[in-house]
Amino acid sequence: MFKLGESAASTIIESSYDGIFILDQAFHLIYGNPSFCQSSGYSCKEILTMQAADFFPDVGIGKFKEKVESLHDKPSDSSIEFSLEYQKKDGALYAAQIQVRLFHDIKPYGYICIARDFTKKLHAERLQQREDERFRELVTASPAAMLIVDSDMNIKLMNSAFSSLFGYTIEDVWNIESWWPKAYPDERYRQKVKSIWADHIADSDKKHCTSIEPIMVDITCADGSVKKVEVQMGSTSDYSLVLFNDLTERISMDNRDRRSAAVIEHINQGVMITDLDASIVAVNPSFTTITEYSEEEVLGKKPSILSSGRHDRFFYQHLWERLQEDGSWQGEVWNRRKSGEVFVENLTITPVFDENGVKINYVGLFTDITQAKLSEEELHHLAHHDVLTDLPNRLLFNTHLKQAVARASRMNSRVGVLFLDLDRFKIVNDSFGHQAGDELLIQVAKRLRQALRDEDVLARLGGDEFVILVEGVDDEERLGAFTQRLIDSLAAPFTLRGQEVFIGTSVGISIYPGDGKQADILMRNADSAMYQAKERGRNNYQFYTKKLTEAAFERLMMEMELRKALAADEFSVVYQPQVQMKENRFIGCEALIRWTHPKMGQISPDKFIPIAEEAGLIAPIGDWVMHRACRDAKGWIDEGLIDRISVNVSGFQVQQGTLLNTVNGALLASGLKAEHLELEITETFIMEHAEEAIKTLEKIRKLGVYIAIDDFGTGYSSLCYLKRLPVHTLKIDREFVSDAAEDTDDAAIIRAIVALAQTLGLEVLAEGVENLEQQDFLVKESCYKAQGYFYSRPLSAEECNNALRQPGILPE
Ligand code: FAD
Repeated sequence: MFKLGESAASTIIESSYDGIFILDQAFHLIYGNPSFCQSSGYSCKEILTMQAADFFPDVGIGKFKEKVESLHDKPSDSSIEFSLEYQKKDGALYAAQIQVRLFHDIKPYGYICIARDFTKKLHAERLQQREDERFRELVTASPAAMLIVDSDMNIKLMNSAFSSLFGYTIEDVWNIESWWPKAYPDERYRQKVKSIWADHIADSDKKHCTSIEPIMVDITCADGSVKKVEVQMGSTSDYSLVLFNDLTERISMDNRDRRSAAVIEHINQGVMITDLDASIVAVNPSFTTITEYSEEEVLGKKPSILSSGRHDRFFYQHLWERLQEDGSWQGEVWNRRKSGEVFVENLTITPVFDENGVKINYVGLFTDITQAKLSEEELHHLAHHDVLTDLPNRLLFNTHLKQAVARASRMNSRVGVLFLDLDRFKIVNDSFGHQAGDELLIQVAKRLRQALRDEDVLARLGGDEFVILVEGVDDEERLGAFTQRLIDSLAAPFTLRGQEVFIGTSVGISIYPGDGKQADILMRNADSAMYQAKERGRNNYQFYTKKLTEAAFERLMMEMELRKALAADEFSVVYQPQVQMKENRFIGCEALIRWTHPKMGQISPDKFIPIAEEAGLIAPIGDWVMHRACRDAKGWIDEGLIDRISVNVSGFQVQQGTLLNTVNGALLASGLKAEHLELEITETFIMEHAEEAIKTLEKIRKLGVYIAIDDFGTGYSSLCYLKRLPVHTLKIDREFVSDAAEDTDDAAIIRAIVALAQTLGLEVLAEGVENLEQQDFLVKESCYKAQGYFYSRPLSAEECNNALRQPGILPE
């Protein structure tokens, strides 16, 4: 056998990780290796002065001696092993596993001791023990029902949540074999569940914690009831933690919800569910059958979409009060279907609460009781009359018109159709609210009715449109005079909520047989004539002429050509310089679009812009002009030739919401700074859509872009809106400027506009200045900015570039 040399043995001892020390028979230390010295805290020199008693104080030394001396009774090469704490130099106690042998190299004998530190191991074991305790406490206190089983499927721990859930005590469960039949009385079912448990425990990874997919089981409780439980199991080699999640309630609720949903889906009553704000969140198919609105059309809308206008606000106020105070409301409500037809329903509204008793929804359950409620005659009346004014509706008017046409054809007479559209009705509606608007329509209907003969038929088509049927028309002149009287009948102010309101009406007239032989053509032609009346300044009447049809056709052609014009590069932009009259210098340019059609030649913007607006083409055209103008003007502005470029924008761009993008895009593409761009918007648009315009224009103003009101003085400005609008300049319409020097009315208007601008802190610029007299007049009235032929006609970009560099061309 290999024999270790002395030096090799001493190297091993010296470098051993274990502490090695040698005692003589009197228990004096005669050697300590470096590891022992280090762990005990003594130097190797000090060690040689010490005794075993120094390391094993008190009881320790007795135990040590007793163990060690027992070696003498054993064969000479025996060793003895025990664990004992010994004391270090600093007084700390140190747990060690000590192995001792008799040592015969010294006489008569000694002891060689090997001490292995197991303080850390002990510490780790204690830690583990504490963690185990904490884990047990956690499991016991957990609100989730749990069991801990060992690998033989014996229950090691059951928490109180388990006991509360299933009603079993620890005694019931302790012996698992007797618990299985209680929890799973059905033999086959029990075997199936047991085999899943057993398979999982057997398969579990010996090193890692493994878990199985949750399984659903039916567990019979101590009281015999059955719970639907989701069981989840996680295992280590020794133990498995089994978690029980009770889903009985949820499953039964899901089933209940499914049943309720199926009932709601199929009942004949309409169901509307709203949130607490009364916005619709769900409706059933019967709702759609009764109201004619699909679910998509009403989701997010208010139930007032169905409102017929028959109930006043006190009715709904009372409804909500009862709903809040009594917890539900039941009554009859007159509603309107999508087609406009009015119906009556029996409606019950109740709140819905969540499991915590918090109100979350309202449910409206209704039945259409129109048939049962009304007589045949009433139903007929309802179907043929406008609910608000009780006038005949479109359906009944068409019947009357057809009959009148048939009579006229037999008797060789003429029939007149007068199509009326109220002027500025929208302004009243927007300013006073729709209830006041409804009130106004009722008053208008009354006045018209009073101005007509009994035999004339007056109908309301919807909104602010009325139509009149006049039989026995002899000559157009008399019909014209009759129409004028109707217009005049609306001239006196209406009183709405104590305030006087003025409106007007535009009327289009078509006459059978000249303007059409069928009812629908007569209606269509009267409608076109009405548009003509609107274009001619409103509050007047126009007869239909063939020219209107031709104009309609021309419009259609123009729309088709317009659709191609942008791609065909037929548009261009010209620039009309704006001047500071007193300083005789250029200050800006107004960009104006031009359309040169390859066959039709130059087409005036007055002609094609309204068509582009109606055809939805104004956004791309407006975008193109804005980009071109910003790009062309950038150089002039950089060179200081002008301060600002003005670009006209259409109200449609504001309405369609494209304007902000257009402006941002053009500024970005051209590199022009926002403060060098001015947008011109017509007064009429702004005032008719004030709230909407204010919102959009405020966003644009925030960019730094200036805003001017174009054609100021031609519309009806509300001072209140004017104050709120983020406007910088008022542009006085050319109409006032042209006669200002002579006409005292126009002069007075200009003076008023300048005074208004000064009061509101706005700039003024006069358009259409053509001669020195006009200029002198404007300067005298403190209007110093202008544009017009007197200074320059609109110029191409190139011409403008030249002109701006020669301020000398301006008239002195
Ligand atoms: P509203 O703005 O509704 O004001 C009328 C009154 O109701 C005011 O006094 C207001 O304070 C009060 N009110 C409105 N909303 C609430 C609210 N969320 N909480 C407390 N008080 C409120 N109306 C119909 O015309 N036809 C229907 O079929 C119909 N079905 C309904 C079904 C349900 C489930 C609910 C909740 C409401 C229903 N309503 C129905 C009532 C509807 O919500 C409107 O109140 C009503 O149409 C009048 O609308 P409005 O815009 O003129 O006035």
